[in-house]
Amino acid sequence: MRTDYHLHTPLCGHATGAPRDYVLAAQQAGLVEIGFSDHNPMPTQFDDWRMAPDQLPHYLESIRDAQREFPDYRIRLGLECDFIPAFEGHVRYLADQADWDYLIGAVHYITPEWDVDNPKHLKRWTEQPVDEIWQAYFDTYTRMIKSCLFDFLAHPDLVKKFGHRPEGDLSRFYRPMLDAAAEAGAVLEVSTAGLRKDVKEIYPSRDFLVAAHQRHIPIVINSDAHAPGEVAYEFDLAYDLVREVGYTEVMRFEKRKAVPVKIA
Ligand code: ZN
Ligand code: FE
Ligand code: FE
Ligand code: ZN
Repeated sequence: MRTDYHLHTPLCGHATGAPRDYVLAAQQAGLVEIGFSDHNPMPTQFDDWRMAPDQLPHYLESIRDAQREFPDYRIRLGLECDFIPAFEGHVRYLADQADWDYLIGAVHYITPEWDVDNPKHLKRWTEQPVDEIWQAYFDTYTRMIKSCLFDFLAHPDLVKKFGHRPEGDLSRFYRPMLDAAAEAGAVLEVSTAGLRKDVKEIYPSRDFLVAAHQRHIPIVINSDAHAPGEVAYEFDLAYDLVREVGYTEVMRFEKRKAVPVKIA
């Protein structure tokens, strides 16, 4: 009864495979439901890893085509939206542009010029204390949670992607964010994408997930696939992890409503 709600399309410029290829891969993997969530357009050409400002209709049409081709398979419509302070109004605008099943909130930018997961900026990690970079990331993530603009929040500790980690117990970074998530009733993503990156670890870490479970924060398990072969990537590991931590439910999404379902 598994789902995967974080799938990209070639429109973002760094994913391969047509939506129909992701659907076929999902059926092959035994998923009961999937959803596409490509990177949101910005008001202007913002960077080189998202659809152009005028391509949203094209994205919507490509998902509609897949839904028409597979009428008996549940294909949800989502969008992975960057949370960047000062662009909250743009997210509200996007929310009105389609009948979304969910909007994903994501922090990639920790300053207006630094998308922290972009290998192009790896040198910056040597120019500033890792503690400061982590703090900037988690402060922005906490602001994103408090904005209540999104249905669930992506890859919670993405900042670890390249393996840079501050010394010692990291709960000092997690705590304010998790408290905000509990208070806001936010849903957090458990993403197997981290297993494909230098850090070789699920987002978020086990410690983080234990603390999330203590606060009864609901979760959704996704692959963040940028290729059909990544759909449901290493889901057995993710389901084992969340079960070990104590989770018995994951969330489903439809028309911007979240519903819990039992993990088999
Ligand atoms: Zn991407
Ligand atoms: Fe992302
Ligand atoms: Fe993504
Ligand atoms: Zn992502």
